[in-house]
Amino acid sequence: MSINRARRQLWLGGGLVLLGSVASPAIAGLTRPNVRKLSFQNLHTGERLRVDYWIEGNYVPDALQTVNHLLRDFRTGDVHPIEPRLLDALSSLRGMLETESDFHVISAYRSPKTNEMLHERSAGVASTSLHMRGMAIDVRLSDRPLPRLREAALRLAAGGVGYYPKSNFVHIDTGRVRRW
Ligand SMILES: [Zn+2]
Repeated sequence: MSINRARRQLWLGGGLVLLGSVASPAIAGLTRPNVRKLSFQNLHTGERLRVDYWIEGNYVPDALQTVNHLLRDFRTGDVHPIEPRLLDALSSLRGMLETESDFHVISAYRSPKTNEMLHERSAGVASTSLHMRGMAIDVRLSDRPLPRLREAALRLAAGGVGYYPKSNFVHIDTGRVRRW
């Protein structure tokens, strides 16, 4: 059994486990587990989450599910898979900005019903929004100025970047690289 597989099974079986303890002493002494972490605060529900969602080359299914739940459509309660590439973009942004603080989430998944309602209210909401496909999120970082988050997202060029200084968030998606 590969080390990756052993770790994954331990994770699924026992929740949060000390990853280093599974590796052979030789490996554990030389390398730290390769982990991608994220933390969120959903501003509508007050929920917080800190999660290791990718470990040693594998996305962690249980972790993705907890992320999907936190990033659900808070108006309808609908849960939709959030594209892992979007999480990778957020993880990279935290790295670029040298912070491990929470992403404050203004909006992530939107059900077609919610999107339609928002679209009718605001010209800024597209009828085919990537929010409906779990490919977009509106966020700010609690300890970094909004312009820096925007600038980092533009440098990362993982998809679309929308700047909403009046509402104090940056829209980040994994669609085509574009900006507004
Ligand atoms: Zn958005």
